[in-house]
Amino acid sequence: MCGIVGYIGNRLAVPVLIDGLKRLEYRGYDSAGIAILEGDKIEVIKTKGKVSDLANMVEKKKFMANLGIAHTRWATHGEPNSINAHPHSDCSGDIVLVHNGIIENYLSLKKYLEEKGHTFKSDTDTEVLTHLIEENMKDCKSDSFTDVLFQSLAEVQGTYGLAIINKNYPDSLFIARKGSPILIGKGKDEYIVASDVAAVLRYTREIIYLEDGEIAEINRDGYHVLNSVNDEVQKKVQQISWNLEMIEKNGYDHFMLKEIHEQKNSLENTIRGRLNYEEGTARLDGLIDYIDDLKNAPRIVITACGTSWHAALIGEYLIEEFAGIPVEVEYASEFRYRSPIINEGDIVFVISQSGETADTLGALREAKRKGAIVLGICNVVGSTIARETDAGVYIHAGPEIGVASTKAFTSQVMVLIMIALMLGRMKNLPLERGRNIVNALREIPKLVEDVLKNDRKIKELAKILSNHNNALYLGRGYNFPVALEGALKLKEISYIHAEGYPAAEMKHGPIALIDEHMPTIVIATKDAIYEKIVSNVQEVKARGGTVISIINREDTKIRELSDEVIEVPHTITPLTPIVNVIPLQLLAYYVAIERGCNVDQPRNLAKSVTVE
Ligand code: GLU
Repeated sequence: MCGIVGYIGNRLAVPVLIDGLKRLEYRGYDSAGIAILEGDKIEVIKTKGKVSDLANMVEKKKFMANLGIAHTRWATHGEPNSINAHPHSDCSGDIVLVHNGIIENYLSLKKYLEEKGHTFKSDTDTEVLTHLIEENMKDCKSDSFTDVLFQSLAEVQGTYGLAIINKNYPDSLFIARKGSPILIGKGKDEYIVASDVAAVLRYTREIIYLEDGEIAEINRDGYHVLNSVNDEVQKKVQQISWNLEMIEKNGYDHFMLKEIHEQKNSLENTIRGRLNYEEGTARLDGLIDYIDDLKNAPRIVITACGTSWHAALIGEYLIEEFAGIPVEVEYASEFRYRSPIINEGDIVFVISQSGETADTLGALREAKRKGAIVLGICNVVGSTIARETDAGVYIHAGPEIGVASTKAFTSQVMVLIMIALMLGRMKNLPLERGRNIVNALREIPKLVEDVLKNDRKIKELAKILSNHNNALYLGRGYNFPVALEGALKLKEISYIHAEGYPAAEMKHGPIALIDEHMPTIVIATKDAIYEKIVSNVQEVKARGGTVISIINREDTKIRELSDEVIEVPHTITPLTPIVNVIPLQLLAYYVAIERGCNVDQPRNLAKSVTVE
């Protein structure tokens, strides 16, 4: 998920590697490290700190190496500390590698390798790769290291971008890719490899991108790329014309837009290795020690702030429907100061993208003081909330840089669906229903991608909305919290006053506001209460309001009633929030652009709210 740099050539490797890591800092990271072949020894230096700290540590040593690899880590398995930082080594210290991605079957591989006598130093999933390669080296008849890599990676499930050095191959740098990018920058008698073109641009604009399943061996005088069946392939060398700023945002104008478009991938990462079709359930390893407590919990309280609080509301609907356990959702800032009642057996969930939100942390501590088991749902591994909770689930959405949360929200909802499904299946949810949900969950990343293609239509609608100073968002059931989230996104980045309401509540007050200056955005995808939403739309239209509706493609009724529609594909009702929120994120984004607002750093807001 974060940064890889590697160098082979005739210059000193350390300055190129450090410079490369600095270019990747914008992606966010929690620790950094470097490994170089110095004489006949591989030196590894790692720190929990910043790349500049790493630079200070290595510069003192005056290394002369011209082969090396480096990494900025964004932890997924094992807390961020210098031991878990990459590079990782095998038992002999001869094979050293850096890795981006997640090794799904690392626990079973680790067990197998420990039985074979390997000693592990870190808590990462990554380290299994070094020992697996070392183990396979023992039996391999071929003296080609790429053969050993093929054999080893065939045993691995999950995703990886890898850069590897092996003391016994002192003139080679090896890379491999599956699901996580890695590329070669071609210089004159030198090659710089990286996970992101930003790290190599200073040296060359000639880039060779590896495809999934490919492995490359790179020497000072050339490179060989092998495809998934170990045949050499001729790769196209691409000329990069982008500047650094464009690269950091992957060609998008803002981090927020990049992150909205990343949601197919981030959602795939959230569900990776966690769904079980056979049993129609989800497997969340982080909760394993608390399964019985969860199953027997008389009540679950979910507490959070802002966007995470909206995810929590969806969680309430999900857990009550699937598992039949009563759920209460509360703002963390209220919970912590109002003497909340925690009875024996109650379980408290806290949700925070950063894992550092001060109010949520306060609520966590208050709940613990009252004797509750507290479980976390966080994005940042090893964050304070992740450390202080009894257990939890990581959402694996990858670093989120835009202040207005987008991909973290959909991944939080995804995790809540899996928790509800797991609990439901332990209670009364029938196998067939569980399987349907698993199937529908697997489809979601594709549906999200589908919605993202609708970009142009949403851009047009943003022009209409940007001329107003107020907006009303309506939704019912699972999509009431989506209405809240849509309104919040608009407020946060375009500074338009927006309110989210359960559609039926409108007649108890906000309907007084409806006129031609108050556009209404209605989430109206097909579900059991669709007909009720039809009436709500009629109520708005009868008062001269403009209606923009989010509808399913096959819809006719609401399409006719609305002034404008945004189409989204159909999914089962409990999963609709993930699909339906995407157009609302895009709408807020384009309205903000129309109004000339600073989307990535909206006024008065901070990414991680570490103050009360
Ligand atoms: N899963 C690996 C770890 O937690 C790699 C993380 C990354 O991509 O930075 O160490």
